[in-house]
Amino acid sequence: MSQPAPSLHEKLNQLRARFIEQLPARLAQTAKLWEQSCASTEEQTRLTPELHRFFHSLKGTGRSLGFERLAQLADQAEASLTSSPQRADIDTYISELLRQLGREQQHLRSHNGQQQALAAVHSFELTGQVEPLRNKRQRLIYLCDDEPEQVDQLIHHLRCFGHEVVHFIDTETFFNAVLTRRPDAVIMDVQFPQGQTAGTETLASLNKLTDQPLPAIVLSAHSDFHSRLSAVRAGCDGYFIKPVKPLDLMLAVDELTAPAAEEPLKVLVVDDEPEVAAYHALLLEEGGMMAHQVHHPADALTTMERFSPDLLLVDVYMPVCSGEELATIIRQQPEYLGLPIIYLSSETDSQKQISAMSAGVEAFLTKPVQAEELVSAVRLRAERLRLLRSLMTRDSMTGLYNHSTTTELINKTLAQAHRENSQHAMAMIDIDHFKHVNDTHGHLAGDQVIITLARLLKSRLRLSDIIGRYGGEEFVVLLKGVNAEKAATLINSLREDFALVDFHAGDVGFRCTFSAGISSFPAQPSTESLRLSADQALYLAKDQGRNQVVVSMEQANDC
Ligand code: GH3
Ligand code: MG
Ligand code: MG
Repeated sequence: MSQPAPSLHEKLNQLRARFIEQLPARLAQTAKLWEQSCASTEEQTRLTPELHRFFHSLKGTGRSLGFERLAQLADQAEASLTSSPQRADIDTYISELLRQLGREQQHLRSHNGQQQALAAVHSFELTGQVEPLRNKRQRLIYLCDDEPEQVDQLIHHLRCFGHEVVHFIDTETFFNAVLTRRPDAVIMDVQFPQGQTAGTETLASLNKLTDQPLPAIVLSAHSDFHSRLSAVRAGCDGYFIKPVKPLDLMLAVDELTAPAAEEPLKVLVVDDEPEVAAYHALLLEEGGMMAHQVHHPADALTTMERFSPDLLLVDVYMPVCSGEELATIIRQQPEYLGLPIIYLSSETDSQKQISAMSAGVEAFLTKPVQAEELVSAVRLRAERLRLLRSLMTRDSMTGLYNHSTTTELINKTLAQAHRENSQHAMAMIDIDHFKHVNDTHGHLAGDQVIITLARLLKSRLRLSDIIGRYGGEEFVVLLKGVNAEKAATLINSLREDFALVDFHAGDVGFRCTFSAGISSFPAQPSTESLRLSADQALYLAKDQGRNQVVVSMEQANDC
């Protein structure tokens, strides 16, 4: 059996313990520094800032972690250092801090299991982003229907959009399967042959057995009130009259299986005190965000590149580089101009706060900050940035990247590919005779086709692939880590599936096809040459009769 995850309280205690553990060594070091600083005026000038920083950060960390007495002593030491440092004073504070530290250690040790907790501290790491491999949109759907006419068509559409479908032809097998492996949604025919439990009854009994009702859609030949009522009473969420338009059913399944939770907001916590960084990261993670810590300001930029945070939470007082300096460095880079930065500091002097804000930070929070205050200040600003970013980078109709963002992302990927010798393939995809679709079935039907193809690409390609809407009915895809041949096979399977999707404009059904051209890196070393080459292949595909995938000639060496 796996260990239960530690509670917030336990994690906090672990942090407190870790902080206290390392404090004696730091106090001893400080005492030595103080000794040295008293040797001469030069030494004093040289070492006072470091001493100052130590007491200041001890004050902030102490408060944040609930060591009020330690924080008070550090505060007094800091004040005395600033005014007129008297040797006796600082010595007294250091001794007093050591005594208090002893008391805190004893207190912590007297807690049950503290030693165990300490051992666990070292394995306690707040990790960064791990890209999920499984497509977030994929759902497990149980289709229970004994009439073959529509089943194949429904299964095709559901699988085409990346869902896993299990088909049952009798309610008993279906019943047992739900108890063994719960699906994300059920599509249920209401009528079954004599001797079998009816569809709605089966669902009603299942719903009595499980805590949460099964998301279910029923398919029925009847639209009368009583049939509908019995479906509602069985706990069904959707009701479709046969014959069903598969895309409508797809939409209902999408709605029913609630969109996968959005990727959590990402916050980079920059603090030279590992315990404080961990403490704030912990509070943010408890608030449902993803937090990553950096303890050396110099590491901030490289971490930002990898983690791409929605917000930075920066300590003001850090050795080597202050929070203000770090904020300025970040702001000097165009890609981070809009990134919200929040300062966290034990500085209560409002004049100093104002001056610190001149680097263009969004807010200033004073340590110790309340969990709710921190989470809501961060969420508000990070969400605002997410929204803005999405408006600027995505096409509103399909949610895919817009032209300029697609190009930018491909540029970045290629820059990295040059360093790593990796290979990638580009596919330009264009819907065939789309003008005809618009002219015959109307613009709304045309939009439906565009949205459906976008949805198909999103659900079948990997999260790491770059999918963009390049213009009207033209899409560009960068398939990472594959050669032209593999890309062609993949895009061809999408082409075959797309050609079988049934669209409807009113009662008129129609189908669409697309053509695609493939090029690949490194045969084409730049975004522009990849695009040109894929475009030429696409042109050839159109010329040869459309509804096909053509690989650009120059890719031969890559395959
Ligand atoms: P081909 O097979 O050669 O690609 O022919 P086509 O008709 O698809 O290509 P063409 O470029 O001649 O026409 C594209 C049409 O797509 C023209 C334009 O009105 C339409 N279109 C562009 N954007 C949208 C959109 O967002 N919605 C709809 N419904 N139509 C659009
Ligand atoms: Mg076109
Ligand atoms: Mg076209």
